Amino acid sequence: MRFIEIKNCYKVYKNGVAAIADLTLNINKGEFVFVIGASGSGKSTLIKMLYREEKPTKGTVEIGGINVGKLRNRTVYKLRRKLGIVFQDFKLLPKLTVYENVAFALECLGMKSKEIRPKVIKALDHVGLKEKLRSFPNELSGGEQQRVCIARAIVNKPKLLICDEPTGNLDPKTSMEIMDVLDTINKELGTTIIMATHDKEMVNRMKKRVIVLDSGVLSEDHEKGSYKASESI
Ligand code: ADP
Repeated sequence: MRFIEIKNCYKVYKNGVAAIADLTLNINKGEFVFVIGASGSGKSTLIKMLYREEKPTKGTVEIGGINVGKLRNRTVYKLRRKLGIVFQDFKLLPKLTVYENVAFALECLGMKSKEIRPKVIKALDHVGLKEKLRSFPNELSGGEQQRVCIARAIVNKPKLLICDEPTGNLDPKTSMEIMDVLDTINKELGTTIIMATHDKEMVNRMKKRVIVLDSGVLSEDHEKGSYKASESI
């Protein structure tokens, strides 16, 4: 079933830079898609248009039937509730425990603590961190902190998980562990995952769909992760 539909989409920033040009792309429910490309090729811009941090200049971005670019500022929360987002820098709240960091997202939605607890425990279990729920972020390794961020992103069972260079600050071994966590979430929960990355070794290992951006243009789209543009990335 088609879930994300991007049609003839352009993004031109105020300074005249065309970050995305005539992009047409469809992603089905439950897919795992890597977005790769050299620095400045438009990966972050594409990701930002998905969670409506940026609006397309022309064309449309639709997620689950919502025309994202047309959302008013005060209704963006309706979209964001359906998404989970994981960034390169962990953005955890340092004074809150692991449990509280994950629970915080649900408290903001007005959920009661009785409802919150089982969801948080389940999310931490998915990322293998149930034992660390009382730890503070500075007591965790980089990989563990990123796993907390993933737990926080999936705690409300989003249909779509967007990841912008989630392994960018991690060593290769830890990066692979994070990838395995994401792969399990994709397979077990059926969450659609879109992940921008520079890490071609990991992309090759995972054998997922790979979309290559080149100066804002979609240059390659491969089903099972063998792509030609690897030299230029
Ligand atoms: P990537 O994530 O692949 O490195 P980006 O989407 O960040 O690429 O950037 C694509 C192009 O758009 C680059 O030329 C970058 O300089 C430009 N760009 C990104 N964000 C902005 C912005 N807020 N204003 C102006 N230009 C931008």
